Amino acid sequence: MGEILFFGRIDGFMVAPLRALHLWLLIVCLPEFVTSEQWLRPLKIIGGFLILRGDSLGLEFVNFFNSDCIREFDLSDQEDRHIWKLDASGSYSSKSAYRAYFFGSVTFEPWRRLWKSWAPNKCKTFLLLAIHNRCWTADRLAKRGLPHPDKCPLCDQEEETIQHLRTPCFVARQVWFNLFVPLNLSGSVPRQNESSFAEWWRRTIKRLKKEDRKEVSSLIILGSWMIWKHRNACVLEGASPSVNSVLSSLKDEHCLWCLAGTKKLQGLDLGRVA
Ligand SMILES: [Zn+2]
Repeated sequence: MGEILFFGRIDGFMVAPLRALHLWLLIVCLPEFVTSEQWLRPLKIIGGFLILRGDSLGLEFVNFFNSDCIREFDLSDQEDRHIWKLDASGSYSSKSAYRAYFFGSVTFEPWRRLWKSWAPNKCKTFLLLAIHNRCWTADRLAKRGLPHPDKCPLCDQEEETIQHLRTPCFVARQVWFNLFVPLNLSGSVPRQNESSFAEWWRRTIKRLKKEDRKEVSSLIILGSWMIWKHRNACVLEGASPSVNSVLSSLKDEHCLWCLAGTKKLQGLDLGRVA
């Protein structure tokens, strides 16, 4: 055996580090009532002293054993059983394990309206990027020092952001107005100070009956997509901003979506949209 260097106290335990056989050991003087506990038997206990390796694992054991959760725990004769912490019942379920994958993840509130509505994937992806401000509008181009228009290419009044383009922009509001009024949705036309497209979409859908929500969501995706395409035509091809042009392209695209199988949109008669 080696020499005992000093006696000390760690969180109420008497502890002596000992150097023997080129190993640092911790000798822990256990309280009498625990030395007979069954769960301690695999450990090396000599004459009421517990011998641990003098490394961080040994110290961790001492601290754990002395912690409040152990002190306040009443040992009983009952058999140990596993408890699944991720479910209130304490029993394992694949559902709770799957949910655990998403702990700490960022929630995306409009996911149901976006992914459950009928629209081509490219349009849904555009909306997803737009809601996260990931489209290459003037504000984003300016941040990276790239050439960008000074004002919104549609209304020429405000700074261009993707939020502005689809809701408070004068041209966008005209499009929504012409689209919504014939469908008795005039109360849902975006306000001039509307700052969030996603929030406006949520409010608009909330006002509707459940059975109408998917078709109006599809229509909003279609309208946003056509406004964005018209903006690109103005910036990249020199087209002139025109509400009629957006509505005309929107009606053509609506027919194509209906032919492609969007049953919900077939119920919307856009013939009266001027
Ligand atoms: Zn504008």
